[in-house]
Amino acid sequence: MGRLICLSNRIPTGASPSGGLVVALGDALEQAGGIWIGTSGELCDAPSDALREIEGGPFRRLCFDLTEEEQQNYYAGYANSVLWPLFHGRTDLMDIHQEYLAAYKRVNRRLARMLVPMLEPEDRIWVHDFHLLALAYELRVMGVTNRIGFFLHTPFPGPLAMQALPNGREICQWLAGFDLIGLQAERDVRACLASMVEIGEAIDLGSGYLHLGQRQSRVAAFPIAINAREFMDLAEEQFQKLPEGIVKTRRRLMIGVDRLDYSKGVPQRFRAFGEFLSRHEEWHRHVSLLQISPPTREGVQAYDQIREETEHLSGQINGTFADIQWAPIRFINRAIPREVLAGLYRAAHVGLVTPLMDGMNLVAKEFIAAQNPEDPGVLVLSQFAGAAEQMGQALIVNPHDTEQMATAILTALAMSQSERRERYQALIEVLLTQDVRWWSENFLRELG
Ligand code: UDP
Repeated sequence: MGRLICLSNRIPTGASPSGGLVVALGDALEQAGGIWIGTSGELCDAPSDALREIEGGPFRRLCFDLTEEEQQNYYAGYANSVLWPLFHGRTDLMDIHQEYLAAYKRVNRRLARMLVPMLEPEDRIWVHDFHLLALAYELRVMGVTNRIGFFLHTPFPGPLAMQALPNGREICQWLAGFDLIGLQAERDVRACLASMVEIGEAIDLGSGYLHLGQRQSRVAAFPIAINAREFMDLAEEQFQKLPEGIVKTRRRLMIGVDRLDYSKGVPQRFRAFGEFLSRHEEWHRHVSLLQISPPTREGVQAYDQIREETEHLSGQINGTFADIQWAPIRFINRAIPREVLAGLYRAAHVGLVTPLMDGMNLVAKEFIAAQNPEDPGVLVLSQFAGAAEQMGQALIVNPHDTEQMATAILTALAMSQSERRERYQALIEVLLTQDVRWWSENFLRELG
C-alpha cells in the first residue's frame, strides 16, 4: 500500500494545541509513512510554488505561506465569510465577492501544482475540510489518477441553501473529483446527495454512489471522534489539580465551551438560563454557568456582533439575578488549555452543548468522557450538533426553543444518580467503541 498524504488548510505546528484530528491522523500517518501538507500560518510577499519541510515530529510535514491577499480573499473571504456561513445554515451572512472565489481557486490550484511532482502512483490522498473543496478537481485536471478522499468537518448544506451560492453548481463539480466524500452525519449525507443531484445534476446510483462528469464518487458518514480512553484518564488526573473553590462547593456547576462563533448558539443558551432563573427562584445562588468562549476570526463583522451580543446578555442576566455572593454567569473570553478543560468538565454537573448548527461538536464527547462513572454529570445536547446522531441518551434540545431548554436545565440539575448513570453508560460505550481510531480506519478502509 502506498503512502498517505493528508492536506488541510493549516499544518499542525509544534506550537498548536494537539487536537483530536492531529492525534488521529498522526497515528495513521506514522503507520503509512505519510506526509501532511498545509499552510504555515506565516505570510509572504509573493506566492511561491515551493514547499518547506518542518523539522521534527513522527511524520513528514510540508508547508507553504499565503500572501496577504490570499489570506484576506481565500481564507478570511471565501472560506470563512462564504462557505462557513453557508455550511452552517446562515446564507444571510454570506459575503459574496468575485475576488474571494478567484483567490480560493488560485490557492487550491497552486497546492495541486505543488503536490503533483511528489506523487507516487500508489499514494492515497486525504483532503480535509472546506478550505480545499477544489483540490481534487484541480488534481484531476492535471492528470492525477490516485485515490483521493475528502472529509468535511462541518455540516453539508441542502439544495435550498446551495442555491443561494452563485457557484453552487461549480462546487458540486469540484466535489465529483473525489473518490470518497466523508461527512460527519447521516443528515449531511442526505443533504449532500440531494444537492449533488439537484444543483450539480449528478445521477444518484443508490447506496451513496453518485455519477457526475464521467466519474463515480461515494458519499458516506464517518462521525469524527475523540480518544475517549485517554481523555477519561486525563480528566481524572486534571480534576485533582483544580483549585478547592471549584471542587468543594455545594453550588452546582454548569459548563459551556465554544469558540465565540454564531453557529454555537451561546446567546440562545444564555437566554434559556435567564428563563430558568426567572422561573426557579429556589435555584438562585445554587447554580452557576461557566461559559468559556475564546474569540475566533476577529475582525470579521459577524464575529464582532456575536461578541457584543453575548457580552450584553451575560451582563444583563448577571445584573438581574446576581447578589453580593453569587453571579449566575462567569463568561471567559480566552482559550483554556484542553487539559484544564478536562478537569473542569469532570467538576461540572451539567454540560450545555447547544449549537444552532455544528458538524460534530467534540466538546459534547469530551464532556461525557470526562465524567466520574459513579456520579456522572448530564449532557444537554442540541439536535443540530452532528453528535446528536450518536448521543441520543443525552437530553436532546432544540436551541431555538428557550422554554424547552429552560426545562431541560431543570431536568438535568434534578436528575437522579441512577438515571445519570444509565445515560452515561450508554453514551460512554459509544465513545469507547467509536473512537478516533475507528474513525480514521473506517475512512481509510473505504478509500482504499
Ligand atoms: N478547546 C480548547 N480550549 C478552549 C476551547 C476549546 O482546547 O478554550 C478545544 C475543545 O476541547 C475541543 C475543541 O477545542 O477539543 C473544539 O472542538 P469542537 O468540535 O467542539 O468545535 P470547533 O471549535 O471545532 O467548531
